[in-house]
Amino acid sequence: MSKSPLPTRAKIVIIGGGVGGTSVAFHLAELGEKDVILLDRNELTSGSTFHSAGLVGQLRADPTLTKMNMHSVDLYRRLQKTDTPPSWRECGSIKLATTPERMEEIRRQIGWARTFNLDLKEISPKEAQELFPLMDLEGVIGASYLASDGQVDPSQLAMAMAAGARAGGVQLFTHTRVLSIQTEKGRVKSVTTDKGVIECEVIVNCGGMYAPSIARMVDVRVPIVPMSHQYLITDNFMDPNAPLLPSLRDPDSLIYFRQEVQGLLMGGYERNSKAWSADYQNFDDIPANFNNQLLGEDWDRFEEIAVNSQRRVPKMSEIGVKSFINGPEGFTPDNEFCLGETEVGGFFVAAGFCAHGIAGAGGIGKVVAEWVVAGEPTMDLWHMDIKRFGASYRSPDFTLKRISENYEAYYDIHYPGEERQSARPGKKSPAYDWHAANTAVFGEKSSWERVNYYANHESDDSLKPYGWAGKHWSSAVAAEHRATRENAGLFDESSFAKAIVSGAQAAEFLNWVCANDVVKGVGRTVYTQALNTRGGIESDYTVTQTGDSEFFIITGTAFSTHDFGWLEKQKREGGFSDVTIKVVTEEFACFALMGPKARIILSKATDYDLSHTNFPFMHSREINIAGTKVRATRLTYVGELGWEIYAPVADGKKVWEALISAGAGEGLMPCGYRAIESLRLEKGYRAWAGEINTETNPIEAGLSFAVSKKKDKFIGKDALNSAKQTRKLVALTFDDIRQVPLGNEPVRINGSVVGRVKSGGQGYTINKAIGYAYLPLEHTTPGTTVDVEFFGTWATGVICAEPLFDPENSKIRL
Ligand SMILES: Cc1cc2nc3c(=O)[nH]c(=O)nc-3n(C[C@H](O)[C@H](O)[C@H](O)COP(=O)(O)OP(=O)(O)OC[C@H]3O[C@@H](n4cnc5c(N)ncnc54)[C@H](O)[C@@H]3O)c2cc1C
Repeated sequence: MSKSPLPTRAKIVIIGGGVGGTSVAFHLAELGEKDVILLDRNELTSGSTFHSAGLVGQLRADPTLTKMNMHSVDLYRRLQKTDTPPSWRECGSIKLATTPERMEEIRRQIGWARTFNLDLKEISPKEAQELFPLMDLEGVIGASYLASDGQVDPSQLAMAMAAGARAGGVQLFTHTRVLSIQTEKGRVKSVTTDKGVIECEVIVNCGGMYAPSIARMVDVRVPIVPMSHQYLITDNFMDPNAPLLPSLRDPDSLIYFRQEVQGLLMGGYERNSKAWSADYQNFDDIPANFNNQLLGEDWDRFEEIAVNSQRRVPKMSEIGVKSFINGPEGFTPDNEFCLGETEVGGFFVAAGFCAHGIAGAGGIGKVVAEWVVAGEPTMDLWHMDIKRFGASYRSPDFTLKRISENYEAYYDIHYPGEERQSARPGKKSPAYDWHAANTAVFGEKSSWERVNYYANHESDDSLKPYGWAGKHWSSAVAAEHRATRENAGLFDESSFAKAIVSGAQAAEFLNWVCANDVVKGVGRTVYTQALNTRGGIESDYTVTQTGDSEFFIITGTAFSTHDFGWLEKQKREGGFSDVTIKVVTEEFACFALMGPKARIILSKATDYDLSHTNFPFMHSREINIAGTKVRATRLTYVGELGWEIYAPVADGKKVWEALISAGAGEGLMPCGYRAIESLRLEKGYRAWAGEINTETNPIEAGLSFAVSKKKDKFIGKDALNSAKQTRKLVALTFDDIRQVPLGNEPVRINGSVVGRVKSGGQGYTINKAIGYAYLPLEHTTPGTTVDVEFFGTWATGVICAEPLFDPENSKIRL
């Protein structure tokens, strides 16, 4: 560790010397950042890192995370050749299936591993046993094997990355505790430690389970809870000359194994999880001296796992236990990392590694270092971005309920459309009781209860998708889809995130941040994207000009913190001090009336002239419904004539009921979010975090129409203009509407894998299953036949010209 006195300034300060902090330091050094200091309140690795089990698996449910873990393996191989090797051993890993559903999961993973050139193979139970001879095959019906997975010594890994960082110029100070953090004008300014104050521009909070307490120093909520996580190590009993066993995961039995010296290390995810130092009323309160320490053995909670391990490896009941580890580890509400810049400028976090931080560390360090240097993520990191968490996570109760639910379901198969059950119902629309009384089946997003569909619309299962896509499917969705196309649907979209941007510089600001020209006059509505400096789509939303210097912005339910946080950051960094961004999500209900009869129905609820000439497409007006002044905006996300109606929450129920009454006799059907998904896929409307994200640009996504050709400047313009286009988003259709892609399936043309599916669903009007995929430009001609792998079986689809429904837009502009 550095013997020099603590500097009084540095560009970047990293807090925490576990695998997270040392990896960020290592990668910052690799990027040439030399003015970097790493601080730890104790020794390096003295948090969760020293007691980790050290398994390194690469394949995860998220493509970005898989790429990150593949980087980890590359890095650990590389470090193994240095003077400070981390004991990287590429022993391979086996995953067992004991149910047909688990086998489907394995085959699905093999399919999308193909799109990463990751050599995941299906092996027979017997082959699995040959690789791991201690195993009993009871109940095993199949398995997968990945030869490049491995194991590493976690402390040595952190030391190896620390050595690399130090060689690159980073200074490391142990036994230096951060006591407080100072900010100025919304940005970090300095950290105060028990050894002095360091002025800085950037802080990276790599505090693991301690990260929430560090973030509280600047009133930032990091929703991580320390959870007790346990494993045991047996006495040595194996032949020292035998080759190293692969790691073994048996998720149906909740257990994992790896070889430890000549014994076995065995752990798992208990069904009765336990938080440590945090509860439903209080944030974590980790003792100031909790370093290099473990928790007491909790055999009662471990019993199910121990019994399961003896069934799978009978030797486990004969050999003694050398040590039992109960260590706390920071878990997040969705088992994904918590990365990125927070609402405080320059205050980054890289924590909450959910017991896969050793596997992830290499990749985490890389993406976070790049994020710090570039000021924006360089990959699609949405699923790991701290900005995916909304304000509900300020509640210890909500956070712990979500984390416990996830911890206990860690090894479960997660089917598409699965809903979280804990901490519900959360936020409700003013029409919630009406929905509940009318057979609504609710889903949850960002703690909002939202209608997925109404059970009383269910009919027969003739369109039910095969396999996983059918698990949470309902025939009601098809009925709601058709009602919207044929008559009209009424959707409760009150959970939309809403903000008012105002002030003398509001117009100038929004035209700098948005790619489209959003300043078209009062009463005009514009769909736009906000690009990052690489031309990638940072967010997309609609902007309605409601006054000379006032704009109403609507974005997706889950994107409030992310999208409005991005606006706040651009405001701060662009010097737009006159601009105010006020989040008003909970002040307005939103109901979307969509379909060919929308005008007839709305006319019965208002005396406003709704004719096309008086109220054109992409215009917004204040009108009266049921004695309430509401904002009606003429636009659509389903490809039909329609209006989104924003009503004050207090009058929301009255307005909803007035619209339902107006639709009586016109075939109006109340509809849910699942129908929106099917309708928008058919019409080709993009969804952020679906087909578009920070890694895709508007040109390849088919969204150039929403990029202003007239504006001289906006963020990302230069990068977009100079970007070489090599791929394009295309629509794929499958004649069998029950053959539904879920996302991540490999797409093959002429025998070669050329891409992977981004999103999929059913189009009930075109009567086909639909998928979207980015493919190399040379393979995007409509009519081209493609093969897509569904659970190990290839099915044929075709690239179709877009949009699949109403290419003339004749339904919308009338
Ligand atoms: C029992 C168990 C088994 C595991 N097995 C695996 C596995 O097999 N594979 C895998 O991939 N992952 C595994 N993990 C997870 C992995 O160990 C962790 O994700 C990882 O070690 C977390 O690293 P970190 O750097 O985020 O946090 P930590 O290692 O906890 O580091 C945080 C550091 O911050 C310092 N700090 C805190 N507050 C301050 C302050 N105010 N000032 C200065 N410094 C401060 C602490 O002293 C600490 O050193 C396991 C975890 C546990 C508990």
